[in-house]
Amino acid sequence: MKILVLGAGVVGTTTAYFLAQDGHDVTVLDRQSGAALETSFANGAQISACHAKPWAEPKMPLQALRWTFQADAPLLFRPWRWDPSLWSWGLKFLRNCTSERMRLNMDRTLRIALYSRSVLKALRQHTGIQYNQVTKGILHIYRTPEEFTEGRATAGQLSALGLPQDILTADECVKLEPALAHAANTDLAGGLMSPEDESGDAHLFTEELSKLAVARGVQFRFGVTIKSLETSGHRISRVVTDQGDMEADAIVLTLGSYAPHIAKPLGIHLPIYPAKGYSISIDLDSPDSAPTISLTDETRFMVFSRLGNTLRVAGTAELAGWDTSLAPVRVEALKRNAQSLFPEASSYTDLNPWCGLRPATPDSVPILGGTSYENLFLNTGHGTLGWTMACGSAQITADLIAGRKPEIDLNGLTLGRFERS
Ligand SMILES: Cc1cc2nc3c(=O)[nH]c(=O)nc-3n(C[C@H](O)[C@H](O)[C@H](O)COP(=O)(O)OP(=O)(O)OC[C@H]3O[C@@H](n4cnc5c(N)ncnc54)[C@H](O)[C@@H]3O)c2cc1C
Repeated sequence: MKILVLGAGVVGTTTAYFLAQDGHDVTVLDRQSGAALETSFANGAQISACHAKPWAEPKMPLQALRWTFQADAPLLFRPWRWDPSLWSWGLKFLRNCTSERMRLNMDRTLRIALYSRSVLKALRQHTGIQYNQVTKGILHIYRTPEEFTEGRATAGQLSALGLPQDILTADECVKLEPALAHAANTDLAGGLMSPEDESGDAHLFTEELSKLAVARGVQFRFGVTIKSLETSGHRISRVVTDQGDMEADAIVLTLGSYAPHIAKPLGIHLPIYPAKGYSISIDLDSPDSAPTISLTDETRFMVFSRLGNTLRVAGTAELAGWDTSLAPVRVEALKRNAQSLFPEASSYTDLNPWCGLRPATPDSVPILGGTSYENLFLNTGHGTLGWTMACGSAQITADLIAGRKPEIDLNGLTLGRFERS
């Protein structure tokens, strides 16, 4: 089958790879000059099933309101912005802020995240792909006893859904990750360890996987901007680009935060809104003073991942449209926290600041599967966990196109969940 994959982020590239494994004739289109140069470029680097708790939870509306006037707030949402797509997304988000919806969404996210982690592990074993991966688990740290208590409650829910975590005292955290010794002297209430989670460079992974995909016959066409999709009856007849039109038997939409723009004229309303996040990538002067285990600071909403001699620090979310300009105040917040936790690790002069647009759905669950057009498939809306979920989502997409039954239940992972509500 001739297949066009639209978008060469981590999601599109993994999709192309798994489609090529099935023997399809695959072409990937992307406007950038290489793979993973937008949101998949410098993310938090975590393969974190442990982050399956959705943003939409009962305490979030009040919390978000409190953060409204704080420029460096972990989640910045300004509802008075003139932005109907934000309001529509926000209403759906609010509907998901109940305990019942939170548990349901956590279950759905965990289902795909755990599956994806196992597909990634198998892929690594099969191909030997290297991307500065660290397979030592993810340690969540808590600065206050109250937050630690809440974290343990979430851990109980995750454990019941299939993700066990170890509960650690502050001393046990430091024993596991000695670089936390400085934090233990200031404020460290305890930690939760998710031993099977991992970290690794999503950009490097995508580049390396694109080479393996090319070796299996995939063509990457960079510098091509997709303008629209044309239809004929219940099929997509043509992909219109700035370099001419293209036809295919099947088309997979993996455009991240930009998928709604291409889908909307077809009558497909994807409830995806960009949640802008930031990262800094710090060269280490004293590698022993920086963590090797990937960390999540649950109090400051930031993650830390070791990529060779670099420490990646990522976090914050801002719902402010498709703007990718860097706000110094947010970069500074990442630096401040990294420096306070690991003061000896680096001089913190070269920060390599970056931001990207997480393709966020209101329930934090991605959108996979077919559409009302028989040859158009969706693989997008992965929000905060696109790197974590990429391999599983790609395998599922390949399964659906091949007519195979995916290995996990897709109930709640397709667009149907929004159409019904
Ligand atoms: C600060 C931050 C930290 C994060 N940390 C983590 C983490 O630790 N773990 C995790 O799992 N996830 C994390 N994420 C989320 C993860 O990075 C995203 O979910 C993931 O990168 C989305 O991948 P994608 O392939 O769907 O989108 P993208 O990487 O954005 O790919 C979409 C591609 O489509 C192309 N494109 C768009 N429009 C067009 C067009 N019209 N024509 C041609 N090409 C087009 C773009 O060039 C791009 O290459 C983080 C995100 C951010 C911002």
